[in-house]
Amino acid sequence: MKTMSCRQLGGGCEKKFQANTFEELAEMSKLHGMEMFQQNDDAHLGAIKDMMQRMQQPEAMAAWIESKRKEFDELSED
Ligand SMILES: [Zn+2]
Repeated sequence: MKTMSCRQLGGGCEKKFQANTFEELAEMSKLHGMEMFQQNDDAHLGAIKDMMQRMQQPEAMAAWIESKRKEFDELSED
């Protein structure tokens, strides 16, 4: 298992996610982000806004995901 925080994944808090693959981790962070969005959590609303802006530019978004995937790959296993 590898661990990344919400903030490392572009979110707004220090919550930790643990998963074996980057896809799983990204999915967990996405669900958490949606939950926080529904709760109108300020920190996450800002983070989600940044993410939406990134999504307007598919190339920038793809590069961002790749950089996060690389970060994940370079982590040591817990
Ligand atoms: Zn969070």
